[in-house]
Order: sequence, then C-alpha cells, then structure tokens
Amino acid sequence: MQQEHNMIVAALSRFVGRESGKLLVRRIAGSKLCRAAVAVVLPFIGVVAAFGIAPDTVTEPRKQTPVVLELALPASSSAGAPVEGYWREERVLHGDTLATLLARLGADDPEALRHLRATRSARALHQPAAGRTARAQITTEGQLLELHYRNGANHLTVKRDGGGISVAEHPAELELRVLMKSAEIRTSLFSASDAAGLSDAIATQLADIFSTDIDFHRDLRRGDRFSVVYEMFHDRGEPVRAGRVLAAEFINVGRLYRAVYFQYDEKRGGYYTPDGRNIRKAFLRSPIEYSRISSGFSSSRFHPILGTWRAHNGIDYAAPHGTRIRATGDGVVEFAGRDHRGYGNLVVLRHQSRYTTWYGHLSGFAKGLRKGTRVAQSETIGYVGATGLATGPHLHYEFRINDVHQNPLRVVMPAAPPISAELKPAFEVEVEPLVQQLKLLRSTHLARLD
Ligand SMILES: [Zn+2]
Repeated sequence: MQQEHNMIVAALSRFVGRESGKLLVRRIAGSKLCRAAVAVVLPFIGVVAAFGIAPDTVTEPRKQTPVVLELALPASSSAGAPVEGYWREERVLHGDTLATLLARLGADDPEALRHLRATRSARALHQPAAGRTARAQITTEGQLLELHYRNGANHLTVKRDGGGISVAEHPAELELRVLMKSAEIRTSLFSASDAAGLSDAIATQLADIFSTDIDFHRDLRRGDRFSVVYEMFHDRGEPVRAGRVLAAEFINVGRLYRAVYFQYDEKRGGYYTPDGRNIRKAFLRSPIEYSRISSGFSSSRFHPILGTWRAHNGIDYAAPHGTRIRATGDGVVEFAGRDHRGYGNLVVLRHQSRYTTWYGHLSGFAKGLRKGTRVAQSETIGYVGATGLATGPHLHYEFRINDVHQNPLRVVMPAAPPISAELKPAFEVEVEPLVQQLKLLRSTHLARLD
C-alpha cells in the first residue's frame, strides 16, 4: 500500500507537476477514490517503474535489460536513428573509484575515463560518495553515452555528443512524495523515530507541533504512540531531505492528540485539530526545545507531588550549560539581569496583563534583551547555566497568574484563534483525507501489535 501510494505520488508529480500532483494525492489517498486513482495512474506506472525500481533490476539477469531500455530512453535522443545502448543504475560502494564505478555500470571506455579524470567539473565523480547512485547509458560495445550522478543538491550529467564528452552540473529536480510512519515510544521520541526510519527533522517537527499540549521532557511514557504523514523530497527515488509534517497524531498516556497542517493563505499555514481548533496556544508547555540531547525521559521524570511543588514553586529542567531557553509565550521583558534572592541571572516576561513567566539560573541572556523588549513565542531569551542558588546547570521555570504560582504542566492554556467560518469548507476538503490516513495508520499499527 505504501509503495503503491508512493508510486501514485511519483506518477502524478511527474505528469501533472509537483505541486498539483501532491495536492491530488493528498485528496485521493485514503479516500474511496483511491482505487480509481490507481486505475487512472496505471498506464504511467510502467514508466515510473523504469526509474523507480532500476536499482533492483541490475541484480537481475541481463534479459531484463531490454524492457528498461525501451521505457527509460529519454525523448530528446529520438532524433535520428535509435541509440544503441541500455541504462543501468549502480549504488556507490565504499572504496569505489571512478574506474570501478564505471566498470560496474558496464562501461569499458578508457577514453571516457581519461576525459572525466581530467575534467575539473567532473570532480565529484573522481571519488564518488558511498551510498549515492549513478545511472548510465552504455552501448552494447561498452561505450559510455550518458551518465547521471547526484552531487549533494546538484545533478551531474555527462553526455557524449558528436565527437566529445560534455559535463554539466545543475540543481537536482527534487520530487515530493508523501510518506507515512507509525512508531511506539520505548525510551525517547528520537529512539522511536530512529527505529521507524524517521529523520531528526521530522521528530523535531513532531515535538514542536505538540509542544503546547505535551511537555516532551516530562510527559512521555513507555507505550505512547504516534503516527505521522509527511513530505519527503526525492531525487530519482532516493530520499534527499524531509519536508513538512502534514498530519500527525500522538497518544500520550492514553490521550489522543491530533494535528493537521492547513495553509490558510499564499504563504502562511498552521496546525489545527481535525475540527478546526488552533493547536497553537498562548504558552508552550516547555521553555526548552526538545532535542536529541535531552531526549530520555526516565532520568528527568516529573513527580507531581503537591508538597514538592508548593515548596519549590517552579519546575527545574536539567540541561547542558548553554542550552537555548525560549519564551513560552508572546510577551514583554519585565526584568532581565542579576537577581539576589537565589535566581541568579533571571528573565521575567509579562504576557497580556495577568501572566508572568520566570526563567532562572541563566548563564547568559539573548543579545539585546532588556526591560521593555518584545519577544515572540519560541524566541530565544537566554541560555541554561548555574548562577544563583544552583548546584548544577538547570533552568528554573515559573508560571504565575496575577503573581500566584501555577503548575505550568497542569494549567489550562488559552488557545490561538480557530479556523474562520469563511475558510472552514476549504479546510474540511483538505483535512478529510489526512484524517483518514491517520486512522488507517492507527488501525494497521494496532493490528500489528496484536
Ligand atoms: Zn528550581
């Protein structure tokens, strides 16, 4: 199903353009239209497969080759007689040189080897990077006709035309695909996402999306689960970098949180619950960004013992010296400086009129931060330290309403505005297939656990 989905995205992207392809798939996938889409796209899948599964074809017997040849020939070479040659794709192995790579691609072409070795613009090929792929068109006599190699974000093309061999490098045309994953938390968000094959970029986005509801430093428990639908940029079938999370759900201590991305104008968008409430709240749960460094929950597990809370009046976040501290809400700096009651270097922010947040023991302040400075939610205001009455580097964080201490992990936070009535119909059209995908992921994940 996953592969089928990817193929549809790839096929649509290729034939109707990247953006509309993505949108179409977003609308079709997971809905009843899915079958119809497969049928419609089917004629194209043959073409996509010629690119998409090329890495597998090389391990198969030679007799497979003519099929690949016929489908993958670029239209541009149709001028004149058909070119005698076949396409082959190889993954670069550790220790590969230009010579060994060309040999594995089936080339027996000393002239091309000599030329490429002497060409500065083909530098990336002199020591090809392990794990990348090269695709080449080779004649039955072993002459190199064309070669493609991805060099970082660029695409290197080698072409034999007329008498000579040309080398050109241009930005790779990335293809956007929508992927889905589910995972269960055993020790931390990052280890779970590693196990599921999700990149750090996606794990960090997840933590960020749910950061107003879940304090990822303290609230995570073994057995928590999440599913995510996200974009991934590919270059000829290879994942290159993660895009945006489109939808996600997180089950934390039995409570289900869901978020879908909705772009409400040309440039801006945000995360909402499926019924259109804004995920963003006036305050984040945690002033410290969830990172790989602080990903374990067992050591910093919070015990909400009332006595401890009352005596302490705040929450301590153990974090390495210099870790960034972010403003939990939009506000104005009321105090930034040395405090002599034990807070050490202290920042106090005022939000609207009733709320203040306190950040103590800082090693330093954000540049230019002083009384009266406006700060936005998530903006860095200072760095973790051990100034004042602190035995080791940690952040002491307080949340007060009308100067009365509150437990920031328990207090109900006011939300940002919901989807407007005007945008609601568009929102529902966009969001429905995403919600269906999350549902599907949840049920398949549960089925696997049974
Ligand atoms: Zn403290």
